[in-house]
Amino acid sequence: MHRISNGRVLDPASGADAQLDVLIEGDCIAAIGPAAEISRIVAQRGGACETLDARGLIVAPGFIDLHCHLREPGGEASETIETGTRAAARGGFTAVCPMPNTRPVNDNASVTRSILERAAASASVRVWPVGACSAGSRGESLAEIAAMKKAGIVAVSDDGKPVANAKLLRQVMDYCRSLDLPVIDHCEDASLAAGAVMREGVTSVRLGLRAMPAAAESICVARDVQVAALTGARFHVAHLSAKASLDLVREAKQRGLRVTCEVSPHHFTLTDEDVQYDSQFKMNPPLASREDREALLAGLADGAVDAIASDHAPHEPASKAVEFDKAPFGTTGFETALALALSELYHTGRVKLMRLVELFTTGPACVLGIERKIAAGQPADLTIFSTDHPWTFRAADSASKSRNTPFDGRSFKGAPMATIVAGRVAFRR
Ligand SMILES: [Zn+2]
Repeated sequence: MHRISNGRVLDPASGADAQLDVLIEGDCIAAIGPAAEISRIVAQRGGACETLDARGLIVAPGFIDLHCHLREPGGEASETIETGTRAAARGGFTAVCPMPNTRPVNDNASVTRSILERAAASASVRVWPVGACSAGSRGESLAEIAAMKKAGIVAVSDDGKPVANAKLLRQVMDYCRSLDLPVIDHCEDASLAAGAVMREGVTSVRLGLRAMPAAAESICVARDVQVAALTGARFHVAHLSAKASLDLVREAKQRGLRVTCEVSPHHFTLTDEDVQYDSQFKMNPPLASREDREALLAGLADGAVDAIASDHAPHEPASKAVEFDKAPFGTTGFETALALALSELYHTGRVKLMRLVELFTTGPACVLGIERKIAAGQPADLTIFSTDHPWTFRAADSASKSRNTPFDGRSFKGAPMATIVAGRVAFRR
């Protein structure tokens, strides 16, 4: 048995916000209640009980990351399932959803099964793979979606690029509606985004870099919402960065469509004005305008945004150490996600702590159509964090194989302190 004592339990599913103890037996939560009650249960059951003192800390349901890249198979120089999930555990995540743009692409059940086998052998946290929408993510014909669902995928996406062909998107959504799988799209109009390496604006002009307008994203969101309306499918916008896109999501929700979205920490922290001629600032979608960031902050606070997703996108150092134009897109994200959320959302007073926890737990769970709560009988997945632990992120000390991040050396207030997956301590600070 494991007992987590004296923590402040915050559970968006039940609305609980109180000092409670949590008792874990095997891989499940056995009980939750006041200390005296849990002591009575422990005495009744007898046997050894290890206690983790969470005094002064928040005890939350296990964090879920809807969007990451673990690079295995095929990109092991940048990350593996082992190193990536170790970084995820250090970031407080108990489950992560790797995108299918591996080599080979996860577009059939045998790739899905091999990812899950590798995860069973080497992962620190749960791995819930996302399958491709189309064969090879080439956007030409359907991937083996039903077979992948049987093998264990939780959603489909051609992430890295959009499903550019509206007719194919309709087929994907029709199919996924009958399978009750969410369709996640990387929304981008290829013609507006062609050759662009950052967001269009004063900074792109000053740096002389090719840039894309916000409409490169929102045009695709508008099309996708209409195809979702046509098919009745569950549609989820990946790494939403633009105000115009969020306005479309708000409107779709008001119409009762099953449309959701996620926002990544770099987009609610930085803007295009922060971009330097340094490839650590190159991501896709690119860092957006100040007005976009304000809209994201509002949506994170008021519920228009469903989840915070890291979009952890590791790249081996050599590949990023080139000119801005030639570098790959992406930043690592697991280990800085919660700290950035606490700094930018909670400590600034913009988002209440319960809502912040929701964005990492019940929010993403709802997108996947699953439950996430702290209750007897539930899987013992818990994230224990501090809102004020002072620390400095050093990319060189990361558990990830990669070092690409614009947040190297940034100091934070608040951090994950322990990550518990299936009753096992996957990380402890
Ligand atoms: Zn993407």
